[in-house]
Amino acid sequence: MALQRDFSTILIERDRVAQRVHELGHQITRDLREAGVNLDDPQAANSRVVIIAVLTGAMVFVADLIREMPVKLHIELVAVSSYPGTSVESKGVKMKTALPSDLGGAHVLLIDDILDSGQTLHTLVDLIGRQHPASLRTCVLLRKPGKAKIDIKPDYVGFDIPDEFVVGYGLDFDGLYRNFPGIAVLRR
Ligand code: 5GP
Ligand code: MG
Repeated sequence: MALQRDFSTILIERDRVAQRVHELGHQITRDLREAGVNLDDPQAANSRVVIIAVLTGAMVFVADLIREMPVKLHIELVAVSSYPGTSVESKGVKMKTALPSDLGGAHVLLIDDILDSGQTLHTLVDLIGRQHPASLRTCVLLRKPGKAKIDIKPDYVGFDIPDEFVVGYGLDFDGLYRNFPGIAVLRR
């Protein structure tokens, strides 16, 4: 694949990503059932499941993950822009689209591509929590350990990775490489 010439290493091969996404989908489904969600009847009390994916990076991950979840669920998308520091906005994160406003009483699963400083997830968890969902869990495909400036522990993590800039499986550099099916480190 021509994309690969731009990578120094492939950190996680496509098959390993797929296997892990399969495991996560089943684990999340089991946890929802154990939390009392009636997975067959979203009309049942407290049984509305809403997946919220953070664009654009979580696009590929969420597309695969939901197909590993045999659950009646709603999908919502939110777009945020994040800044490297905290200077531009108070929390360094700016909403580019409005959150859904009907999350009260729902079981919400927030999905992002990667946890780095933790600002993105922290901000979204705070905003979603104000709507009083029945439950709110967070899931990231990747996490860079030790990098989080904010103490936030996702409920589900696909892989812990070293502190390198990675692309592929939805993650980009300058808008490119999102379509690479594994996770790779860009050649500098
Ligand atoms: P946080 O708010 O946790 O600092 O950052 C999360 C966001 O930063 C991710 O959603 C992603 O857009 C971006 N990000 C952080 N690390 C990387 C990386 O290694 N590669 C890419 N492509 N994006 C990253
Ligand atoms: Mg992102």
